[in-house]
Amino acid sequence: MRALHYRRIGAEPELVDVPAPEPGPGQVRIRVTAAGACHSDTFLMSLPEEAFGYPLPLALGHEGAGVVDTLGAGVTGLEPGTPVAVYGPQGCGRCYPCSHGKENYCPDAAGLGIFPPGLGAPGTMAEYLVVPDARHLVPLGDLDPAANVALTDAGLTPYHAIKGSLGKLGPGTAAVVIGTGGLGHVAVQLLKALTPARVIAVDVSEAKLRLARDVGADAAVLSGAGTAADVRELAGGRGAAAVFDFVVNQATVDLGTEVIGTEGDIVLVGLGSATASVGPVSALPRDATIRAPYWGSRDELIEVLDLARSGLVRVETERFTLQEAPEAYRRLRDGTLRGRAVITP
Ligand code: NAD
Ligand code: ZN
Repeated sequence: MRALHYRRIGAEPELVDVPAPEPGPGQVRIRVTAAGACHSDTFLMSLPEEAFGYPLPLALGHEGAGVVDTLGAGVTGLEPGTPVAVYGPQGCGRCYPCSHGKENYCPDAAGLGIFPPGLGAPGTMAEYLVVPDARHLVPLGDLDPAANVALTDAGLTPYHAIKGSLGKLGPGTAAVVIGTGGLGHVAVQLLKALTPARVIAVDVSEAKLRLARDVGADAAVLSGAGTAADVRELAGGRGAAAVFDFVVNQATVDLGTEVIGTEGDIVLVGLGSATASVGPVSALPRDATIRAPYWGSRDELIEVLDLARSGLVRVETERFTLQEAPEAYRRLRDGTLRGRAVITP
């Protein structure tokens, strides 16, 4: 089968021909119909050898959809041909967080050698993918795979991040979304669908701000010298009730701390390396919180797909073939995509 492999530190990923994986006992093989490209992949490919924690080559892609193809020994209750989405942040399935469906917070996964596809385990940018357990497959139903595959991360991650702050986003509040790319443009829609908050988008790109407005942002601010003052004014006297930062560099973290209001949530989602702090005691408004969520739970993935079925969230996608996947990553790195790049093998 064909697959997209990251083979050498610093090099572009390459299309390779490798044997299709066979499902072992309890495992399921899917024929991949769509895979999404995430900024986390380009982050991974930007790491120097010392910091790159996975064996190479690595098949890329942690957003995946497909149809059930072959059942490993002992697997029952799944029909070949059924369309499915892949739940990526797989855990041990037995510990306390996993028992709640929060496999994204499994404390044992890495120790047991369990890694998400494309982030340690073979990724979704391939013609076939084996998942270690049938529970990692969520029914896609009649949702179009290419249009919805990005919901498995670019939808699930902001959904999980926003759900943690829902109680604070009541009438008259403001929510700020910093970075309206793949994840951020879905965050804007989720905030509009789930809360009455005024949504203020911030980005360094006019094109991404246009997208934010197109998908429902109430205001869009180009990042620059006066951004904090502009956002504060748009947020009204109380400051922002929540800031969702999909970048996390020093400028965006500083912006978040400058615009957050009393009891507000600063939610750091981007994989940038800036630090946010709560001290000295008077530095942030009273009772403000800083959180750094990761991906989402299995039940949340089902909920996000339901929101798509109801027409409340729609991922803006640009389509590429597997051959064109390196180009998709180039465009992602250069910041010229509108929404998410989706590869259809
Ligand atoms: P993306 O490239 O599609 O979007 C990033 C957006 O941020 C772009 O629109 C870009 O113009 C904007 N931006 C860049 N610098 C900015 C700045 N200084 N101020 C304002 N906007 C700025 O990336 P993506 O795939 O949406 O991923 C977003 C981030 O989330 C990445 O860091 C990714 O690694 C991370 N991520 C985290 C998780 C998690 O579980 N925590 C999951 C998935 C992705
Ligand atoms: Zn991702």
